[in-house]
Amino acid sequence: MSVIKRPAVAAVATALILLFPFAPVPDFWITQLNYIGLFSLVVLGLVLLTGVGGLTSFGQAAFAGVGAYATGYLTTVMGLSPWLGLAAGLAITLVLALVIGALTLRMSGHYLPLATICWCLALYYLVGNLESLGKYDGLLGLPALTLGDFSFQSERRIYLLIWLAALLAALAVTRLLDSRPGRIMRALNTNRGGGSTMPEAMGASTFRHKLVMFVIAALLAAVSGWLYAHMQRSVNPSPFGIKFGIEYLFMAVLGGIGTVGGAFAGAALVKLAEDQLKVWLPVLFGGSGNYEIIVFGVVLVLVLRFAPDGLWPLASRILSRWLPARAARSVDEAAPPLASREHPQPGAPLLAVRTIRKAFGGLIAVNDISFEIRAGDIVGLIGPNGAGKSTTFNLVSGVLPLTSGEVELLGQRVDGRGSREIARAGLSRTFQHVKLVPEMTVLDNVALGTYLRTRSGTVRAMLRLDKAEEAQARAEALRQLRRIGLAEQAHELAGNLALGPQRLVEIARALASDPSLLLLDEPAAGLRHKEKQALAEVLRQLKAEGLSLLLVEHDMDFVMKLTDRIVVMEFGRHLMEGTPAEVQASPAVRAAYLGAEA
Ligand code: ADP
Ligand code: MG
Repeated sequence: MSVIKRPAVAAVATALILLFPFAPVPDFWITQLNYIGLFSLVVLGLVLLTGVGGLTSFGQAAFAGVGAYATGYLTTVMGLSPWLGLAAGLAITLVLALVIGALTLRMSGHYLPLATICWCLALYYLVGNLESLGKYDGLLGLPALTLGDFSFQSERRIYLLIWLAALLAALAVTRLLDSRPGRIMRALNTNRGGGSTMPEAMGASTFRHKLVMFVIAALLAAVSGWLYAHMQRSVNPSPFGIKFGIEYLFMAVLGGIGTVGGAFAGAALVKLAEDQLKVWLPVLFGGSGNYEIIVFGVVLVLVLRFAPDGLWPLASRILSRWLPARAARSVDEAAPPLASREHPQPGAPLLAVRTIRKAFGGLIAVNDISFEIRAGDIVGLIGPNGAGKSTTFNLVSGVLPLTSGEVELLGQRVDGRGSREIARAGLSRTFQHVKLVPEMTVLDNVALGTYLRTRSGTVRAMLRLDKAEEAQARAEALRQLRRIGLAEQAHELAGNLALGPQRLVEIARALASDPSLLLLDEPAAGLRHKEKQALAEVLRQLKAEGLSLLLVEHDMDFVMKLTDRIVVMEFGRHLMEGTPAEVQASPAVRAAYLGAEA
C-alpha cells in the first residue's frame, strides 16, 4: 500500500492552487483562472442542486447578478463597504431563493426549470431598465476589495480570494454530501431512481432538503457575483442573463454534474475552449458569429450520449490509477450508542387498523380492511397478486392517503398524517420495489435510517461539527448490518449488490431507525434458500427482542413458519384471519390461491 494518502494529495493540490499567482506566470493565465474559479463557485451549486438533487435550474446567473448588483449599488451609490455589499447580496439572495423555492419546489417535473428561466429573464430586464442601477450600462467605479490595509486590487491578489472561496465551497459541499442531511439529498434525485417516498418514510422532510439545496446554490452564485463585480470594478446586466444561466448548466453537465471535481473541470473546459473557439472558428468560417455556441451544443449531445456522468468521473477513473486508493472510512465501534425510544410492553396494543379503504378511481384496491397487532406479534399479510397488500402497507405507513377508515399506532390516531410523522411515531418499513441510493455505500444507506435519531443540520455538517454524531450513526449502521449478516459488504456501493442482499440492506436501514413496528414488504423475494433461512432467523431474533412485525410475503413456507397470525386478502377484501394452521386448513384461502393461479 502506498504511504501517500488522498488527503495529502488534496493538501498539496490546494497549496499549489493558492501559490500559483506567486509564480512567474503571465497575467493572462491568472485572469483565466480567476474566471474559472468564479464559474466553479456557481457550478458547485448546480452540482448540489441538479447533480445530486435532480433539480434543474437555469437561474443561477441571476443569483450571481443579485450578488453583483447589491454590492454595486451599496458601494457606488451609497458609498458603503464591499463587505456590507456582500452581506446585503447574501441576505437578498436568501430571501429570493426562499420565496422562489417555496413557490416552485413543491411542484413536480418542469416547473422549477421553467420558473428559473422566468426568474433569470425577469431580473435581466428589470436591472436593465432601472434608472438607479444604470440601465444596460450598469454601474461603474466599484472599489477594490480590501481587508485592513491589504487591497485585492490586482488580478493576482483577487485570485486568492476567488480561489479561497471556491476551495472552501468545495470542501463544504463535499462534507455536506457525506452527512445526515447529505444522505437525504442524495436520495432525492428522481433521475437516478430516487424520490421523496423513501426519505419521507425515514422521517425527513424532502421539501426542506430541496429548499436548503436551492438556497445553498443561490448563495454560492451570489458570492461569485460579488467577487466578479469587484474584480471587474463594474457591473452590467449581460453576464447575468439566460445565456449564462444555460452556460453554467452546460459546464456542470460537461464536467460531471454529480461530482465536486466536475464543477471545476466543467468550468475550466468551457472557459478555455470558449476562448480558443472564439479565435479559431471565425478564421475557419469567416464572419464573427457566436459559433462556439454551436460547438457547445454538439459537444453536449456527445457527452450526454457517451459519458452521461460527464468528463470528470472519466478523468478521475484514469487519475486514480496513479493516486493512492481511497481508504474506506473506518467505523468507530466504540462510539456511544444512539438514544433508543421507549418501546411498548409485550402484548400492549400497537397497531389498530379499522375499515381502511383505498379507491384508485373506480378500483377499490383496499376494501374496508381491519386488523390489529399487539406488541411482540409477527403478523403475516398474504393474498394473491394484486390483492391490495402493498397498498395496505402504504396506507398504514402514510405513503398513500386513505379514502376512509382509521389507523391507530401506539394509541395515537395517525390516519391523515404523512409518512414522516408516522415514522416519528415509531413505524418503519421496507419497500417491495427496493429504494436504496445505489451510488452510496451500503453503510451510508443504512445510516440514512438513523435520521430521526440524530440532529445535525446543514451548517453543522459543512463545518464538520457533526463528527461525534456521525460516528454514532455509522456505528449503529454497522451494528444493524452485522445483525442481518451484511457487515462484510458495508463499504460496497449498494447498487453493486444483488437484489436479495439489497432487500436485507433495506431491513437494516429500517432497523436503524429503532422502530416499535416494522413493516416488511416481500423481504424474502429474490433471496436464495440459504439467505431466506438466515432472514427467518433474523426475524425470529427480532421477535425475541420484542420487536413487532407486519410482513407481506409470497413464500408460504416462510410465512407459515414465522408468523403468529395471518391476515388473508383477496381483491382488496378481508378474506380471513387466523393462525397459520387455520389459514392452511381454510378452503376459502385455498380457493383464492388456486383461483389466482388458474
Ligand atoms: P399486492 O401488493 O397485493 O400485489 P397492490 O396493493 O400492489 O397488490 O395492488 C392492489 C391493486 O391496486 C392492484 O390491482 C393494482 O393494480 C392497484 N394499484 C396499486 N397501486 C395503484 C396506483 N397507484 N394507482 C392505481 N392502481 C393501483
Ligand atoms: Mg405488493
